[in-house]
Amino acid sequence: CGIFAYLNYLEPRTRREILEYLIKGLQRLEYRGYDSAGVAIDDGEKTSIIRQSGKVKMLEDKIWNLENFDFDKSFDIHVGIAHTRWATHGAPSDLNSHPQRSDESNEFAVVHNGIITNYSDIKQFLLKKGYKFESETDTEVIAKLIKHIHDNHPSLSFRELVEQAIQQLEGAFALVLKSTKYPGQCVATRRGSPLLVGIKSKNNLATDYIPVLFSKDSENKMKPDHRPCLTSTIPTTTAGMKRSESTTEFCPLGED
Ligand code: GLU
Repeated sequence: CGIFAYLNYLEPRTRREILEYLIKGLQRLEYRGYDSAGVAIDDGEKTSIIRQSGKVKMLEDKIWNLENFDFDKSFDIHVGIAHTRWATHGAPSDLNSHPQRSDESNEFAVVHNGIITNYSDIKQFLLKKGYKFESETDTEVIAKLIKHIHDNHPSLSFRELVEQAIQQLEGAFALVLKSTKYPGQCVATRRGSPLLVGIKSKNNLATDYIPVLFSKDSENKMKPDHRPCLTSTIPTTTAGMKRSESTTEFCPLGED
């Protein structure tokens, strides 16, 4: 599949612009999966999730035809995440599309590339805790596991929370998460799957909101990777974003 996120922190962006970025990102990644697609965006204090089985074009049509949706609403800081799916667990359907969510109020939303091989053990554990599942995906356990950890340890930062959750996961993943509990923050992490971060910075503002990455250390443990990801400039086509006049730098993170 393809996962894509857009974190806006430099200047206000309308919801229309944010959605255009997300759709553009998905179009560039559609070759990686095309059975369904979805986005999660901010909606005041809440997160709106829009998902659709079928090609990105079908999601796009659904989005632009949304009724009572304020496309001109502007956000100073905004996190949008997006996904184009190649199903491994659960047939292509609206409910199995990503972003997958922790609960009906969309507290935690996640997009996932890869397979969580121990998802059924985690699912059994969460079912016993009273969580109700709405999809057949392996991915849904991630959103719910993170909510479970958060509810038991509300003082953890978003990064610490994700760090704890991924210790429980087996398999391969690249994940991007957003949460109404951590507005304006985006956490990205990977194990085995590739992930690319693009940063456009002005006055070092980017460092306040930089997505946090995790990689394996020499003992094969996951640990936060705070490399500033500003090593090389690569053509915009790779990231599917428009090149801006100001500095846009990208750092492809190597394999494990
Ligand atoms: N295993 C996840 C699913 O089936 C993600 C698949 C993908 O990488 O698109 O939903």
